[in-house]
Parts: sequence; structure tokens; C-alpha cells
Amino acid sequence: MINSAFAAWLVIYAQNHGGQGPYGRGILIDAHWGWNVFALLLMGHVTFYAAHYACHKIPLLWQFHRVHHSTQVLDSFSTSRFHIVDKTTFAAPYLLLVTYFQPDPALTFLFISFNDFFGRYGHGNIKDPHWLGYFMSNPKFHRWHHSNHPEATNKNFSAEFNFLDWIFGTAYYPKEGIPERFGEADYSNSIFVQHYQPFVDIYNIAKYDGITALFKKPFGKSDSGEIQSKSAMQKSNNSDNTTEEVLKD
Ligand SMILES: [Zn+2]
Ligand SMILES: [Zn+2]
Repeated sequence: MINSAFAAWLVIYAQNHGGQGPYGRGILIDAHWGWNVFALLLMGHVTFYAAHYACHKIPLLWQFHRVHHSTQVLDSFSTSRFHIVDKTTFAAPYLLLVTYFQPDPALTFLFISFNDFFGRYGHGNIKDPHWLGYFMSNPKFHRWHHSNHPEATNKNFSAEFNFLDWIFGTAYYPKEGIPERFGEADYSNSIFVQHYQPFVDIYNIAKYDGITALFKKPFGKSDSGEIQSKSAMQKSNNSDNTTEEVLKD
């Protein structure tokens, strides 16, 4: 609700202060409501897919998105398990587009509310028809996105309609079976730890792998969901040493 109200306010503010201008600015102000709905869905879908793809491929962004993926239990509440930087990464490109093209504020409000509802449905413990997953990011489709099964790693990035996954070859949707393993057992469930842990992990990657490692192709993900990097190995060495010390004592 707050997100929807904020985006709608942003559009109204842009219409009052920015108005129409060159290069398509404000092009949706006078457009038919049908075009507004179409543009809102398209802008939402493209920006979500692109931001989500970047969050998985760029190690710096992954450390924030990892909070959402660390959950071992998937249900509608998983939509609330996000780092605020991650949420901003997803919202920023969309907010820029709606501020620039200025669609109808009421429809913008409705679309973001729909988007929020869909996130809860898509993470839900709901059994629905298999064929739906060929068109939409339904619970089964998104479950594979969260799974620790190697064949489904970095697949199924869409929210709502999932045609971009099918077009770009990032869809993974087998007819049989549903994934069973999710998340990372040792990632904290505390909202406070979740909000500072990415900064600690980013610091460690920069320290042990170099700052460029934060922008290069991401490290592999093991079966347990653990990220393989020098900093991660350093971390596990440290914990091994601690175990040894404890055993010695
Ligand atoms: Zn993801
Ligand atoms: Zn998710």
C-alpha cells in the first residue's frame, strides 16, 4: 500500500512539476487507459526481470538479494524477507520510468498493489494447475527459482507474466516434481542481522577476493546454497579452526 501510494504520488508530482516535454516525456498523460495499463505492465515486467537478473549476476547486488533467497521455508511471508537495498534496486528503475512517462496515478496505484498481491501468491504454499506456469510466475514456477537444485540456479526471474524467461531461455519448468531444498541453513533469521550481514560479506569479498570481484561474474553456488569464494572459504576455515580449538579445549 505504502509503495503504491508513494509511486502514485510520484506520478502526480511529476505531472504537476514536470509536465510534458521532448523525447516521450509525459507521453502517457493523455493516452487511453488501455495504453496506460499495457505500459504499466510492460514497464513493471521489464524492469523487474532486468533488476532481478542483475541481482543474481552481480556479486555486489547478490549479497543483498541473498537475504530473500536465504529463507528455507517458502510461503507468502517470504515476500517480506528482503533487504531494503534489494527492494530499492528493484523499485528504482520502475520509479524512474513512471516518473518520466507519467501514467495515470490511479492505475499506477492499482498496478503496484496487484504486484504486491502477486508476490504473495507467487511465494504461497498453493497448488495450482501446471499449465499456468507457462504464462505466469505461479508458485511452482517461483519455487524453482528459490531451489538449491543446480539445474534451476539462476532461472525463472519473472514476476507476474513470465514471457521474458521463455524468450531469453531462463525458464526452468519441468512437468514432474517440485523442488524440496531452499535457502541457507546458517543465514540468520533476525531482521537486524539480515540488514548488516550483506555489508560484512561485501567487506570480506573485497578484502580476500579484491574489489573487482564484487562486479565480476558471481561465484558458484554449491548444493547447500553456500557461495563459493575465497572469502567464503576463509570464513569456513575460520569456523573449522574455531571448532578445532573448541575440541582441543
Ligand atoms: Zn532471486
Ligand atoms: Zn522470491
